[in-house]
Amino acid sequence: MNYNETFSSIYNVLSTLDNEGQTAQYIPELAVIDPEKFGVSLFTNEGELFSFQDAEEKFSIQSIVKVLSLVLAYRQLGVQIWDRVGVEPSGTPFNSLVQLEYEKGIPRNPFINAGAIVVADILVGALKDPEVAFLDFLHEIIGDKSVNYSEAIAKSEKEHAFRNLALVNLMKSFGNIKNDVDRVMDFYFKICSICMTTEELVKVFSFLANEGVSPITEKGIVSQRQAKRVNALMQTCGFYDESGEFAFKVGLPGQSGVGGGILAVHPGKYTIAVWSPKLNAKGNSFLGSKFLEAFTTAIGSSIF
Ligand code: GLU
Repeated sequence: MNYNETFSSIYNVLSTLDNEGQTAQYIPELAVIDPEKFGVSLFTNEGELFSFQDAEEKFSIQSIVKVLSLVLAYRQLGVQIWDRVGVEPSGTPFNSLVQLEYEKGIPRNPFINAGAIVVADILVGALKDPEVAFLDFLHEIIGDKSVNYSEAIAKSEKEHAFRNLALVNLMKSFGNIKNDVDRVMDFYFKICSICMTTEELVKVFSFLANEGVSPITEKGIVSQRQAKRVNALMQTCGFYDESGEFAFKVGLPGQSGVGGGILAVHPGKYTIAVWSPKLNAKGNSFLGSKFLEAFTTAIGSSIF
């Protein structure tokens, strides 16, 4: 199937809509991104790549990286990871503090900020040079060295990270952060700043559509069972307090980031990524969500 025509006909309809929302205002470097950017890529398990518009332009993947940091920590710790972070949807915004106090510093899941910060703490403790090891891991998956951090975006986030600092300190008080708070947060901001194109994203994540094995390098990244569990978490938690709506309307496991990217996986078939920087009130790409809803509807491709 050639997806290019489907991409352009959906885009033509969506571009007549009011693109509501705004770029992420709490990270100044992201606030000034051109809100009209739009890119889509789809990569099949057979290795075919389809791309539309700004698919070769890099943007900050933000929370999409939380899936990759979970995968790396899961490889290191195995099932013990679930002692430190839960597997339940939170029903709260990505940066919420409310449940952490009641639940004694154990975040509901690895994709809300609190959970991803615990995962960052695990990696800081387990890896010799975490920043280098993390990029090496991405390069191993994608088969080249094209992916890097953005120092400017990491710095910009760090200077305005009041809520994330509250989260990490609260968890430290409960004993669920083992390393120095500043060290953990520097690593967290660094990995959130990673920039990729939608073409790179679909390739990096293709192992999750292919039972844990990269269709590009044919290397096993995680076991089939681990891939299944990561996909289940994306389905239930990847859109924070909009996860139910995304499952209802799009029907694919996925993860969004405040850079305006959304990554979604059809296990056994393909990986798709879309980028449109304006976010809705829940912090998920407004047009990106609409695009994926129209896409899975048009081609009749949801996991349900
Ligand atoms: N770095 C962002 C934060 O911690 C990630 C949030 C997101 O992309 O949803 O707020």
